[in-house]
Amino acid sequence: MTLSNPWFLLALIGCIGLYHLELFATLLNMSALKAEVPDALKGSVTEEEHERTLEYARVSAKFDVLQSSLSLALFGAFWWCGGFGFMDAWLRGWHLDPITNGLGVIGLLFALQSLVSLPFDLYDTFGIEREFGFNKMTVGTFIMDRLKGLFLGVLLGLPLLALLLWLFEKFSLAALYGWLVLSAFSLLMTWLAPRLILPLFYKFQPMKDEALRAAIVKLSQKLAFPIGDVSVVDGSRRSTKGNAFFTGFGATKRIALFDTLIANHSQDEILAVLAHEIGHCKRGHVPKQIALSLAVSGLMFALLHFALHDPRLSAAFGVSHHSIAWGLVFFSIIYSPLSLLLGLISGHTSRKNEFEADAFAKEAMGAEPMVSALTKLSKDHLSNPTPHQFYVFLHYSHPPMLERVAALRA
Ligand SMILES: [Zn+2]
Repeated sequence: MTLSNPWFLLALIGCIGLYHLELFATLLNMSALKAEVPDALKGSVTEEEHERTLEYARVSAKFDVLQSSLSLALFGAFWWCGGFGFMDAWLRGWHLDPITNGLGVIGLLFALQSLVSLPFDLYDTFGIEREFGFNKMTVGTFIMDRLKGLFLGVLLGLPLLALLLWLFEKFSLAALYGWLVLSAFSLLMTWLAPRLILPLFYKFQPMKDEALRAAIVKLSQKLAFPIGDVSVVDGSRRSTKGNAFFTGFGATKRIALFDTLIANHSQDEILAVLAHEIGHCKRGHVPKQIALSLAVSGLMFALLHFALHDPRLSAAFGVSHHSIAWGLVFFSIIYSPLSLLLGLISGHTSRKNEFEADAFAKEAMGAEPMVSALTKLSKDHLSNPTPHQFYVFLHYSHPPMLERVAALRA
């Protein structure tokens, strides 16, 4: 670990820089909170409800800062005390083949990271989200979700990781093959997720409300968007937040509404939200976002190609025996600031797509059902009505609600 190692400097500046950038954005966001109810919400949001929104924003921001500070401190301490080198020596003592050893390195680090974030996840779910009335999850569901996630990770992630390690051990053009493999895998997952993975976590049931079903079918015919079945998802078992509306778009055209959405919204509002989702499909947003993410991962693999075999990469983190697995781990740390920058492009595209889908819903239904659906969702989720522009630029995949309402009414 010396200052003459460029990877060491990059990692140090990257980690500290990212932390301060996030802190700065959060502080700006807090300073943009307004004590009085914004004009556009007067009449639909009371003073007390607005006060609760501000409180939720402050509590969440404090929690984020605490989590990122403690995580950075722990990561720094682990790095400084030679944790990576110690882990490497211990694993090499087992005399495993390179691929099993690599799976050990990445699996162990993943387990450590999950262990560190577990208390934060528990406090977030059963402290903050429960206090504000969102969490409906029992400890049993929380544990089962974790176990299912772990099972899926082992079932899907482990073979994929082993394949990537093998490619990098064998071929000089492994970065290209790796990119192709990962692209094929993510395309497969967009097809598999609604069919196999979501049903592991949620229960899908046929919609019983015949009037609503008929209205949905009528709307989809009007918009020339043929649909298969319409089902209801038991989102209420986990959270009162009904923010994911439909799944399995694309080839399946299977519409699934969260029960929380149905319970809290009028028929016109539900149809407007559905028209918005159909707008995403009709404007080809999903394939565009997938193409963008494949391009971004292509760039990542290209950079990986140049960095992976440099032993100074491992030396920067106190590991004297460079390997493919350590190279992947340390590259991912060095890559994270660039990943944030590239994420800004997809965030910007995503916000632009939301405006387009809103405009589509307006064409189908008029502006008001969408406006009232957005206002209600924002109110029910205690969404910050006045986030700072810089925070939106960094983190928001959807434009702030007031901007969407203004665009709908324009
Ligand atoms: Zn959308």
